[in-house]
Amino acid sequence: MALGLPSRLPGTPSVGDLVRGPAPTFSFEFFPPKTPAGEQLLWQAIRELESLRPDFVSITYGSGGTTRDTTVAVTERVATETTLLPMAHLTAVDHSIAELRNVIGRLAGAGISDILAVRGDPPGDPTGEWVKHPEGVLYAEDLVRLIRESGDFSVGVAAFPYKHPRSADVESDTRAFVRKCRAGADFAITQMFFDTDDYLRLRDRVAAAGCDTPILPGLMPVTRMATIERATVLSGAPFPPALLPRFERLADDPEAVRALGIELCAEMCARLLAEGVPGIHFITLNRSTATREVWQLLTAAEAIPAAA
Ligand code: FAD
Repeated sequence: MALGLPSRLPGTPSVGDLVRGPAPTFSFEFFPPKTPAGEQLLWQAIRELESLRPDFVSITYGSGGTTRDTTVAVTERVATETTLLPMAHLTAVDHSIAELRNVIGRLAGAGISDILAVRGDPPGDPTGEWVKHPEGVLYAEDLVRLIRESGDFSVGVAAFPYKHPRSADVESDTRAFVRKCRAGADFAITQMFFDTDDYLRLRDRVAAAGCDTPILPGLMPVTRMATIERATVLSGAPFPPALLPRFERLADDPEAVRALGIELCAEMCARLLAEGVPGIHFITLNRSTATREVWQLLTAAEAIPAAA
């Protein structure tokens, strides 16, 4: 059922168009705030990062309750009050198809034409059992189809360099990824990773499966030791053994941990750009400083143009 929405302004490229364009894209990810103080931090970060003129920004979808409405509200406000192109994430958790259609319609009504379709994790424990809503969808692939049927949206999906933690093996993970691309995804963004070779292996196996969907690496610099633990849970990948001792040696010196994290992230970006990635997606955690520091290192090294 096409909702007949949204109406992309003539000449306005979609995120999919930009990612398939000639130059690498740069984009920033934010999450919906839960408190007034969090909202202030988010908008400060958005304003500070706006001056870097990213190709697009994305707003994650909360795991439940009011943060879901906040995703729609923040995405709409970015569209109307900033110069930025916003993309909303959408998940299938705890939603019937009717509710998903309602959210898609609200996004369209707010002029949002770009959606990242992910299945979502169970609220609370991301590694817990995933239970499909009785009238909902089972996989991201089904969500991609639903969004596609609903109107003229550009749709992205998630990719996992080390395989999704729930996938039995890399082969079945690749098959599932290719299926959701063929269901209508224009591009993909990866889970954060810290070993560039993991990304390159993903890109190679997807290409070997005959799929040419562009895959943006999703990067987040380590700014504290806790990032390493969190990243390990989310990605299901061990932190690279060659890097872990370098951080552990500095564990008592938070500034040194941060400086190393920024430097290594900039090195990864430079290598990925040299490998011809379609762009880089920075996970900001609603703070601008770390991303701006990585950006400065990259412009100083001329890995990206100063006014990208
Ligand atoms: P799916 O593609 O559905 O895959 C889930 C599992 O099922 C995988 O193991 C896959 O191999 C398997 N599978 C898929 N299709 C099939 C099939 N047809 N047959 C058999 N097995 C299959 N979470 C949020 O809550 N909010 C967000 O905003 C959010 N944004 C994200 C952004 C990015 C870039 C990434 C990488 C993740 C994001 N997540 C977000 C987390 C994501 O929702 C979880 O990682 C989730 O567990 C997987 O989502 P998916 O879309 O990859 O699921």
